[in-house]
Amino acid sequence: MANLETIVSLAKRRGFVFPGSDVYGGLAGTWDYGPLGTLLKENIKKEWWASMLEPHIYPLDSAIISTKKVWEASGHLEHFSDPLVECKKCKKRFRADHIDGDNCPECKGELGKAREFNMMFKTHAGAVEDESAEAYLRPETAQGIFINFKNVVDAFHPKMPFGIAQIGKAFRNEITPRNFLFRAREFEQMELEYFCDPKNADQYFSDIREMRMKWFLKLGIKEKNIKFYDNTEDERSHYSVATTDILYNYGISDDGFEELEGIANRTDYDLKNHFPGHNWTGEDFLEDKDGFVPYIIEPSLGVDRAFLAFMMDAYDEDEIGGERRVVLRLHPKLAPFKVAVFPLVKNKEEIVGKAKEVFDDLRKKFMCRWDDSGNVGKRYRRQDEIGTPWCVTIDYETLEEGTVTVRDRDTAKQERIKTEDLNSYFQEKLS
Ligand SMILES: [Zn+2]
Repeated sequence: MANLETIVSLAKRRGFVFPGSDVYGGLAGTWDYGPLGTLLKENIKKEWWASMLEPHIYPLDSAIISTKKVWEASGHLEHFSDPLVECKKCKKRFRADHIDGDNCPECKGELGKAREFNMMFKTHAGAVEDESAEAYLRPETAQGIFINFKNVVDAFHPKMPFGIAQIGKAFRNEITPRNFLFRAREFEQMELEYFCDPKNADQYFSDIREMRMKWFLKLGIKEKNIKFYDNTEDERSHYSVATTDILYNYGISDDGFEELEGIANRTDYDLKNHFPGHNWTGEDFLEDKDGFVPYIIEPSLGVDRAFLAFMMDAYDEDEIGGERRVVLRLHPKLAPFKVAVFPLVKNKEEIVGKAKEVFDDLRKKFMCRWDDSGNVGKRYRRQDEIGTPWCVTIDYETLEEGTVTVRDRDTAKQERIKTEDLNSYFQEKLS
């Protein structure tokens, strides 16, 4: 397993992730996903949707910017803050709970009293910058789902239980963004809000908890690097009666493990906040007309944290034929490119032409990469480092026998496959 610095450096060198506003010296807590990062991130989201979209789960894409009223009702305006202290000498601000002692960690100056600092990004909608125009960038995607609860119910009349799922950006003005993608100011969330009868909530909570752990393991996260952590009553948010975190071994805290995903039983807190005075007994979507306000089970995962976990878990260094290599053992479904196609030489027209033909055929179905520079060994190394599971080389034998060499990233084993069988060969590997 890699440490964070190794991953940050690989991510920049190979075009996965760049620092935000890089050419202007950067903006702390923001990151730009490069070409390979964009593909990896899309694949993570695709796998998440694939695991979520059952007939009773409804997708949503709500607005990032929303009226102040949403955040008044949700409690974020009042509660979503960190205690800050300011240094009287250098004027820098620090999280009060991150400070040891009474003096500034930078200049040893005297610190002022702790004050609450709201972490939401505030802006104004429209030309007038007065209080009535105040709007906020959402600090979580969940509220967008809650406020659309009735819209979805009215449009689809779903029966209980049902869910609404969303992937989208969220923004938090972190005082000290740190640890690469782990704590950024702009990030992306994947959240399911599962609405159910309160009397079944415990069962759904435990089912969803298991389902989420299986998702990570299926996509290749090693069991030793991931675990459940049940929050104690003191650790839970005020709206939650049960919270389990899925922790990943990022190696950035004392025991290495930090939160990757949170699963919470949010009770009826959110719906009661956004629909006060609503008559829950007469609604046609409540099958048994018991008159309950639905409970909500929420698995909430940061795309960027998942991205970092998959990168760290896949990173490996080993030796192939006496040569050291870096290899990203990403699950083939997550790998940015599935197949790289190489002509053995680039000055032999028949070989290049045949390789182009294979490339054009494969890229209709798989994300493919063309590489004709340097010797084949070097090309393998390049693809290993970005996690491409298979490399196809077109050589002289291809022209005579109609076969190509397929080389496996993890084992470095090679086999000859007929060109016309390549499609089904990779299809099978990926299914
Ligand atoms: Zn200071």
